[in-house]
Amino acid sequence: MAEDRNNNLYYKHSGRFSLPKLSLNISLSIIISAILALIYCLIDKYNPFIYIQAIITFFLVALLGIINSEFLLGSKVRNKAINIGYGLTIGFTTLYFSWLFWVYAVLDYKYSLLDIVLSPIGLLQTINALNKVYVISVYSTQITGGSLLVLWLLESIFIVGGITYYTLSGQKFTVFCESCENWCKGDKTFELENKVELNTIKRVLEAKNLSYLKQLSIKSNTSPSWLRLYTRKCHNCSTTNTLTVSEINLKINNQGEVSEQEKEIISDLLISSQETTQLENICQEINTNANQN
Ligand SMILES: [Zn+2]
Repeated sequence: MAEDRNNNLYYKHSGRFSLPKLSLNISLSIIISAILALIYCLIDKYNPFIYIQAIITFFLVALLGIINSEFLLGSKVRNKAINIGYGLTIGFTTLYFSWLFWVYAVLDYKYSLLDIVLSPIGLLQTINALNKVYVISVYSTQITGGSLLVLWLLESIFIVGGITYYTLSGQKFTVFCESCENWCKGDKTFELENKVELNTIKRVLEAKNLSYLKQLSIKSNTSPSWLRLYTRKCHNCSTTNTLTVSEINLKINNQGEVSEQEKEIISDLLISSQETTQLENICQEINTNANQN
């Protein structure tokens, strides 16, 4: 796939972004992370059930990741390094606020928040001192000292890594129209029977020989494997259009549960507006023929 990205057949991000919007949105993300970290720490202080806290940690991470992702789209960021940097920044900011508010709450609000903020070394020393006396119960096992440090470390990795992961998840499969500066939207999905070699499909579609698809048929309900084609297009100016093709295989596990496994063969191949219409017409024709037979 890496070599595909090096030529001009496929869509790739331009690296551009809107600096005013990005600056505003990252500031908003930091404020939201502070508010959510405060709520997170207050629940931690008053909720005795560690399992509930684990679920809340997951929600904190997922929610912030989703918010970041929306803000990155709003900032028109077409730059992977900025997406990663944004996720990591909010991950570490949330971690910092979590420790700050946790220490503030655990010491029963005796110290001013500003004093804790102004003394980062004091904050670390307090966390170190609390580590020796603070106890968490998991399945009637008392966790403190070194074991607690390991637990805190895992929680920290989960917060930073999880927020970054969810931030980036929302950035996958995004295509931007540089002509009118809008995100392209997913448009149509077609499912066709997979009768030919995947390499052939890839080669033929890269050559824009779309009529080749006419020899494929519609996916039957009993197929264990088929092709899924989807188009993305700019609904504003129609300049940018892409095609993604995946092979879907049904997998059945030991419990008899069926799941779809998707393998992308073609990821955002650039096609013209006319080619998009041609492709959609061919797929619709195959669909209509199947319904008539
Ligand atoms: Zn456009």
